Amino acid sequence: MRYTEYSPMSSKIWTQTQELLKEIADYMQLDPLLYEILLEQEKVLILSLPLRMDDGSVRHFVGYRSQHNNFRGPYKGGIRFHKDVSLDEVKALSFWMTMKTAVIDVPFGGGKGGIAVDPKKLSARELELLTRQFTHTLSDYIGPYTDIPAPDMNTNAQIMEWMVDEFEKTINRQKKKKPYSHSELLGVVTGKPLTRGGSEGREEATGMGGMHALLPVLKYAGKKPKDLTVAIQGFGNVGRFTAEFLVAKGFRVFAVSDSKGGIYIPTGISNIQDIYECKKSHGMLAECYCVGSVCEIRNKEKLNGKNITAEEILTLPVDVLIPAALGDVIHENNVEKIKAHIILEMANGPISKNADRKLYEKNILVIPDILANAGGVAVSYFEWYQNIHEEKWSKEKVLGRLEEKMKKAVDTVWKLHIMHRVSLRFAAYIYALQQIEKEWCKRERK
Ligand code: NAD
Repeated sequence: MRYTEYSPMSSKIWTQTQELLKEIADYMQLDPLLYEILLEQEKVLILSLPLRMDDGSVRHFVGYRSQHNNFRGPYKGGIRFHKDVSLDEVKALSFWMTMKTAVIDVPFGGGKGGIAVDPKKLSARELELLTRQFTHTLSDYIGPYTDIPAPDMNTNAQIMEWMVDEFEKTINRQKKKKPYSHSELLGVVTGKPLTRGGSEGREEATGMGGMHALLPVLKYAGKKPKDLTVAIQGFGNVGRFTAEFLVAKGFRVFAVSDSKGGIYIPTGISNIQDIYECKKSHGMLAECYCVGSVCEIRNKEKLNGKNITAEEILTLPVDVLIPAALGDVIHENNVEKIKAHIILEMANGPISKNADRKLYEKNILVIPDILANAGGVAVSYFEWYQNIHEEKWSKEKVLGRLEEKMKKAVDTVWKLHIMHRVSLRFAAYIYALQQIEKEWCKRERK
């Protein structure tokens, strides 16, 4: 095989996504032409990325960008650096972005990309070079009005800064008349550092949006935060902020985990920031079950926290389970062991199609990814808007607008869920497809 980092995943994820689209399109009697359009990506790019490593050897990486649909606006979606990134994964993820941007009602379409690489195995120099090469190769296909990447798994504000910088250099090298003002050009990616056109509130947006998705659903279901226990798989940007906001609202977060394992505290974790600081200094959560107030509790009351595995966290006896790491973690082999009554999908695609059906049959309420984690893209839109219009919004304004957007989306999806007697996922897709259909009809009439 030519590409040393190419690890093809099964095509299950994309096929399952297409099957779901068919079910919902049939139910809604969606126009067959629109169904066919949405069944495939408008464009999929496979990028060859050879890289000279620090030791002088050359390795060949593969990058992807999938542009699913842009009826509602430029393609929009994150860039993921992970060893398992594959064509099918980015295809499914870009489709979900088309649906998500429609549910949260921002004027974007759906895109997604990534590189099949374990970034932890690269030096800082190698990571920067790979990011720059990816951006350079992609530069004809991205832009503030065409396709706007953002951070996703293992990518962050620093990587976005390199992307802006490389995009700018590439444009300048082309010696064309400058197509963008400086501020507009910053809109080529979102999730940038504050000093480079980023937005206040972007870092915590996805976690805060998750909280805004969960609270009204609990209200409709007649449950109160203080009576509910929570377990969260994934302690990166999304998992950590979701944990922080839920603890602040009175939920008892019993367990959190990362790729190397997790911690379970039967009395609830009182200070997520302590756990975060501990993870930062030790590099893994498994070292952190005895930090700050948790240790004090342990010493006083002899209540021991314990280490758990990244998989065990999914089957703990809690009320709310929050997968906030990888896709496809709840599947046919573990779905029967799930004990939570509510699942907030903060990761993209954490539940397989068959497992989702079983959860529905068991009356477990799943708040779907395209609604639950849409806060990130909502604030990405605010960031892009500020770049394009040369504005600078306060954190209060950003987070206030985020709350309004989430509220409208959750209320609409909940109403459709009741009206059609379907799952929240099905209802969210109905709403998304109605929104896309509206835009498509306008174009068709032109
Ligand atoms: P991140 O890279 O900041 O964090 C990922 C976390 O998952 C880390 O704690 C990592 O250790 C953990 N993890 C990795 N493999 C694991 C495993 N096998 N078991 C348990 N934990 C594991 O990424 P993120 O930005 O927090 O994204 C997490 C998920 O949320 C992804 O599915 C992403 O697509 C989705 N998402 C992110 C955003 C965003 O704004 N960052 C928005 C919407 C959706």
